[in-house]
Amino acid sequence: MRRIAIIGAGTGGTILANALAKKLRTEVRGGRLEIVVFDGSESHIYQPGNIDIAFRGANPKAFRRPPTQLLSREVKLLKSPVSRIDLENRAVIYDGGAKMGYDYLVVATGSIAAPEIIPGLAQASLNFHRSQEDAVRVWEALSAFRRGRIVVLPALPHKCPPSPVEAVFLIDELMRKRSIRKDVEIIYATPYTRAYPAHGIADVVEPEMEKRGITTYTLFNIDYVDPAAKKVYSLEGEELAYDLLIAIPPHRGADVVIASGIGGEEGWIPTDKHTLKIKGHDDAYAIGDATDIPISKSGVVAHLEAITTAESITSQIHGTGKVYLYNGRINCPLEMGGRKAVFVSGTYVKQPERQNPSTTKYLMKRLFNRLYWTMLSGALEPIFNIYLGPPYEVKVVADDANKSP
Ligand SMILES: Cc1cc2nc3c(=O)[nH]c(=O)nc-3n(C[C@H](O)[C@H](O)[C@H](O)COP(=O)(O)OP(=O)(O)OC[C@H]3O[C@@H](n4cnc5c(N)ncnc54)[C@H](O)[C@@H]3O)c2cc1C
Repeated sequence: MRRIAIIGAGTGGTILANALAKKLRTEVRGGRLEIVVFDGSESHIYQPGNIDIAFRGANPKAFRRPPTQLLSREVKLLKSPVSRIDLENRAVIYDGGAKMGYDYLVVATGSIAAPEIIPGLAQASLNFHRSQEDAVRVWEALSAFRRGRIVVLPALPHKCPPSPVEAVFLIDELMRKRSIRKDVEIIYATPYTRAYPAHGIADVVEPEMEKRGITTYTLFNIDYVDPAAKKVYSLEGEELAYDLLIAIPPHRGADVVIASGIGGEEGWIPTDKHTLKIKGHDDAYAIGDATDIPISKSGVVAHLEAITTAESITSQIHGTGKVYLYNGRINCPLEMGGRKAVFVSGTYVKQPERQNPSTTKYLMKRLFNRLYWTMLSGALEPIFNIYLGPPYEVKVVADDANKSP
């Protein structure tokens, strides 16, 4: 019996497993193929929900579900974290030393906020990226805040590029609702040259920030924080005092990637940006935040890479000679407060464009929060295909289906 092993039952791993189960149902039911997913977590977290938890006081329970509820019956979930990946011998080690071989592997282990990388940051700051509990702490601190300076401080790399800007706008909105905006100074200190890395989006965001009295510091790369003095220092030699520091800490890949020596010190797996194969391996893929692909670390990317990889593995198993190449499509909402949002959309070759913030886009984001759980099952894929088309190009590679182009 052949086996597809997927490490991680987050956004990418779940969508992939369900898509494979649909495409390869006959093989699985006939006992010729096994789809195994490894994940030790009790809950699958819908991470964009952390925005609602941190800035609107939403209940974290609304944004988590047990992984077993989300995976197709054809998928076998092993509730154990993988401790080592052995690409050379096509095996994963889990559960205190058990070893499982595979025919195809997909690493979908995500990324994690690591404030401890920067001296003083973990002690001095709150964040809404690492966990739901962290997001709750942000809400508690904002609710108790009366007057003074709030600094929002992203460090690179981090997942969800729009999230720091969303934080700034939603803090502004919250303080206005509480009628204390005049007593609160909001500062956004970004490592980029503009308030948003894509110029089309920066053109929209910057005037809004100015209008709302939000001060932006550009080219501010955090060096260290002095929690006692309540000051942040940048590599560029600037210092910034704060009363409340909300950081978007630098992220790194999963421990297992680092421990297995397949992603350098920071844990990003070298991955072909089109085939999504781990470089140098024809039977192993990486998707989502875990890769070193220069694209936003976002749920939408994990989703579209999962769809592309499901096609590729199915093609390899069926020997069709087709290769599926991800086109780098992204489509992330950016909330701007006041029930307005823009969509950061593009591909590997098309930069996000300037657009007017709209209530329709805001409502689409809210709707998506509800549709997420259904989307994991693959039920919405036909609709996405009608409106957006597939996120890949298909090439036929005669007699050589399994090779990267
Ligand atoms: C505040 C916030 C807002 C966001 N907003 C958006 C948004 O609006 N739009 C958007 O597209 N994206 C958004 N994102 C980003 C999005 O949530 C992530 O990019 C996405 O979840 C990445 O999917 P993934 O499958 O790569 O990783 P994840 O969904 O993080 O899943 C990784 C899984 O791997 C598992 N794992 C890790 N190590 C092991 C191991 N050793 N063995 C087994 N399993 C393991 C973990 O338990 C986890 O279940 C947001 C993120 C945050 C924090």
